[in-house]
Amino acid sequence: MGSCDYFVCIEAKNGKQLKEKIDSERDFMGSENGTGSYCGNWNAKENGYRVLSYIANSYDVAYNYILDNNDKWNCVDAVKVIEKQGTPAQNKRIKTQQELVNTLSNNPRNFIKDWVFKLHHAKSKTKSCKHCNTRLDVTYINTIHCSKCNTSFLTQPQSTKLQKIKEKIKTQEEKLQKMIDNKGGKTKEYWLVGGWCPS
Ligand SMILES: [Zn+2]
Repeated sequence: MGSCDYFVCIEAKNGKQLKEKIDSERDFMGSENGTGSYCGNWNAKENGYRVLSYIANSYDVAYNYILDNNDKWNCVDAVKVIEKQGTPAQNKRIKTQQELVNTLSNNPRNFIKDWVFKLHHAKSKTKSCKHCNTRLDVTYINTIHCSKCNTSFLTQPQSTKLQKIKEKIKTQEEKLQKMIDNKGGKTKEYWLVGGWCPS
C-alpha cells in the first residue's frame, strides 16, 4: 500500500469553525469518491484532526512541516499560515527573480549536454577513465561520470566552470528567498490542513 498527500486550505475565525470546515471537507471527500472508495483522501485516515503548534509564513513551509510530522494512519494535521501578500512592486520583482532562477537552473544540464555532445562528435571513439583506467565506448557515455567508478571526466577548468554555474544559481536562489522573506503588504491568514493518506 502506498501513500499520497492531500491538503486543503481553510479559512476559519476560530477553533469551532475550523472543526466544522474540516468535517465538511471530509464528508465531501467521502461522497465525491463513492462509499467505500476512501483511498487517497482523509477518509482513509483516523477521524479528527491535530493542531500543530507552529506558525508558517508560507504555504510551502506549512506543507513541508506537516509532511515531516504526519503519519499516514493518524489524523490530519493543521498548521496556521500567516502569509504576507507582498506589495505589487515586491511581487513584480519576485516574479522576475523567480524567472531568472528558473532560467539559470537549466544551465548545469545544458553544460553537461554540451560536454556529452562534444565527446560524441570528437575523433576518438573511446574515453579512458583516469581513475579506474576503464576504456569506455563514447557512444555509451551520457553523463560526466565514469559508469564504473563514478569519477568525473571533467578537466579541472571544466569542473571549475560547472561549479561556478551552480554557485550562481545558489546566489540567485538566496536572493529570491530574501525577497520572499522581506515581503510586506497585507497579511493573509488561513489553515493548511492535511497530511499523508494511504492510497
Ligand atoms: Zn572510472
